[in-house]
Amino acid sequence: MNEKSKANLKKIFAQLPQVDKLLQAPELLELLKQFPRDLIVDQIRIQLDKFRSQISQIGEDKLSAYAVNHEQVIDQICREIGSALKPKVRRVINATGIVLHTGLGRAPLSRQAQQALIEVSEGFSSVEIELDSGKRGDRHKLVEDLLIKLTGAEAAAVVNNNAAATLLTLNTMALGKGAIVSRGELVTIGGSYRIPDVMKKSGAHMIEVGTTNQTGLWEYEEAINEETGLLLKVHTSNYKIIGFVAEVPLEELVELGRKNNVPVMHDLGSGMLFDLSRYGLPKEPVVSESIRIGADVVTFSGDKLLGGPQAGIIVGKKKFIDQIKKNQLTRALRCGKLTFAALEATLRLFLDKEKLLEYHPVLKFMLRKETELNQQAIDLHGRLSRMIGARGEVDIEKGLSEVGGGSLATESLPTRLVVFMLNKCTPEGLARKLRLSDPPIVARILNNKIAFDMRTIREDEIQFIVDAVSIIADEGCAT
Ligand SMILES: *Cc1c(COP(=O)(O)O)cnc(C)c1O
Repeated sequence: MNEKSKANLKKIFAQLPQVDKLLQAPELLELLKQFPRDLIVDQIRIQLDKFRSQISQIGEDKLSAYAVNHEQVIDQICREIGSALKPKVRRVINATGIVLHTGLGRAPLSRQAQQALIEVSEGFSSVEIELDSGKRGDRHKLVEDLLIKLTGAEAAAVVNNNAAATLLTLNTMALGKGAIVSRGELVTIGGSYRIPDVMKKSGAHMIEVGTTNQTGLWEYEEAINEETGLLLKVHTSNYKIIGFVAEVPLEELVELGRKNNVPVMHDLGSGMLFDLSRYGLPKEPVVSESIRIGADVVTFSGDKLLGGPQAGIIVGKKKFIDQIKKNQLTRALRCGKLTFAALEATLRLFLDKEKLLEYHPVLKFMLRKETELNQQAIDLHGRLSRMIGARGEVDIEKGLSEVGGGSLATESLPTRLVVFMLNKCTPEGLARKLRLSDPPIVARILNNKIAFDMRTIREDEIQFIVDAVSIIADEGCAT
C-alpha cells in the first residue's frame, strides 16, 4: 500500500464515530439500560475494529471515493451488540419437523414439568432430605417409586444421561471382566457416543460376537467363560439392518444368562413406558417388557420419547441397582434438583394415560393429524404470500417428518411443509438470517428452498415466523 492510500485509510478511520459519541446515540442509550457500560464499551471497540478491518479490505482504487455512513455504522453496531450480549441458551422455533432434535435440546417439557422447575428453583428444596425423619435422604429415591410402578422393576437410579447410565452400569457390573455384545449392535449415537468407546472407558472388556447382520445364540454361548461379567443387548435405535438378518431376542439371552449365572443388560436408548402402537405409531421398545422378560438392568434416556429432562434412567434388579448406587462414579454422574423436579413431574403424567396426550408435548407433536398440519400450513402460506408479494415465492408441499433422537429410526410421519424463497437470497443465506432472527428459527433446506415443517411449529409461533420473514424480505440476506 502506498503512502497516499495509507493517508486515505487514516482519513476514513477518522470518520468513524468515537466511542464517547456512540455512547450518546439514542439506540445505544437503550442498550445501556439493559447491559453494564463496560460490556457495551468493549463491544463498541470490537465492532469498530471490525469496521476498520473491513475498510482496509476495500481496493485502493475505491478507497478515495469511500465515505463512512454514520447512521449505518451505529445501526450495525447496535444490532451486533444486541445479539452479542443476548443469552447463549435461548428459546428457538423448531421448524425442522424433527421432534427430538438433539441440537435443539430434545424433548420440550410439559406444563407440569415447567411448573415443577419454577417451584423448586425459587427457593430451597427437598432433594436430599427425608421430610418424615429429617435425616439426610437419597436423591435416587425421589423418583424410584414412580419408576418401579411404571416399569415393574425392583429398583431404579437416575444419572446425568443414558451415556452415563450405560457407562456406570458396565463399570459396576463388568469392570475387568468380559461384556459380550453382538457386532450388529455396536451403535454410534450422534457422533460422540460409541458402544466400543463407552465399554473401554467403563473398564469392561468388549467381547464381540457374530457378524454385522447375523448373530446366533451359540455365538454368545461359545464366548461365555469364567471371565464373563455381562451379556449386553443394545437397541439399534438409529438404524435398521434389513435382508439376511438374525439377532438373538432378549428372551434367549436372559435364559442363557440364567444358565451361566451371568447378568443381562439391555440398553434401550429411547425406551418408552408403554406401546406406542396403541396410538397408531410404530412400536418402540417398552421398558416394562424388557423387565418382564427378565433383563437384570435396563437403561434409557429421560429426554427422548419419555419427554422429560436430560437424564439416564437405570431400572432393574435391586441387587444390581444397589451396587450401582454405591459406585463412586455415581456421585460424579448424578443429576441436580432441577432434573429430578422435571423428571418426577414427567413420570407422573404417565400414571394417567387418558390425560397423557393432553399434556405430553413429544407425543402431541408425534400425533398431530395431517388435517391440522394442513390447516396451519394454509394459514402460514396465506400470511407469507400476502406479505412477500413479488419478492419471492411460497408453496405448500406434502412431506415427511422424522421423530429424531434415535427413536423410530426408519419411520417417518406424513406432514405439511411451507416452502419458500426470497429472490434476493441464497437458501443458505436465508436459513442463516432465520437462525439470527429473534427468536431464532431453525428450518430445513429442501431442493434449494427453505422448508418450514408444520409438525414442530406451534400455533402461537406462526406470527414470529411471519415477522421474521418480513424483516428479512426488507433487509435482504447480505448482512
Ligand atoms: C440415545 C442413546 C444413547 C445415549 O443416550 P443419551 O441420553 O443421549 O446419553 C445410548 N444408547 C442408545 C441405544 C441410544 O439410543
